[in-house]
Amino acid sequence: MRLILLGPPGAGKGTQATFIKEEFRIPHISTGDIFRQNLRDNTELGQKARVYMNKGKLVPDDLTIELVRDRLSREDCKYGYLLDGFPRNLVQAEALSQFLEERGESLDAVIDIEVDKNSLVERITGRRMCKDCKASFHIHNYPPREEGKCDHCGGELYQREDDREETVLKRIGVYEEETSPLIAYYDRQGKIQKINGNASMEDVKAEVLEALREI
Ligand code: AMP
Repeated sequence: MRLILLGPPGAGKGTQATFIKEEFRIPHISTGDIFRQNLRDNTELGQKARVYMNKGKLVPDDLTIELVRDRLSREDCKYGYLLDGFPRNLVQAEALSQFLEERGESLDAVIDIEVDKNSLVERITGRRMCKDCKASFHIHNYPPREEGKCDHCGGELYQREDDREETVLKRIGVYEEETSPLIAYYDRQGKIQKINGNASMEDVKAEVLEALREI
């Protein structure tokens, strides 16, 4: 199954991705996670990406597209994958279409998680991530059992550099301008599955899994 997760920052894509990955046993490929790992490892790619990420801007398309092509060509993606955070604009979407066409493959669905804009800032600024297993928590909506510590692996929780309010507003703006046109793009291909992301995490999960079982 080849899937894309669309939705503004704070829609809960990472959380739902974990459920989808477990249910359908496909790799979860988050370009944001890959960039953050490169930032931590201080690779050349990480150094290039840092300036854009810390301003809430998109990393240039050539870097991002090459990274994704490379990742999707690996053995574990042979029977499918879940893309989270890619594509982010029409150039990236076209590059993905070309990649799929070259391999005689196609997408199965694009899940679009819709959330009221007003709740996004609160959702993101309260978010805390595990340094080790990347699990996501929220200080009010989904607190860890022990403050600052991951429920799953005991790793240290931290706030992403780009989850601070000024950057969040910028990222939401970038989503509206550059990424949201992809909803119409994939709708024309009959791939969009709209999900109400304002419901509880469990209800969103149920809706997502039901939609995917039906495709
Ligand atoms: P995310 O974790 O998906 O919110 O991504 C965090 C940041 O990584 C974004 O704000 C961008 O700076 C960068 N990023 C992630 N995915 C992409 C992409 N597909 N294209 C360009 N930049 C990206």
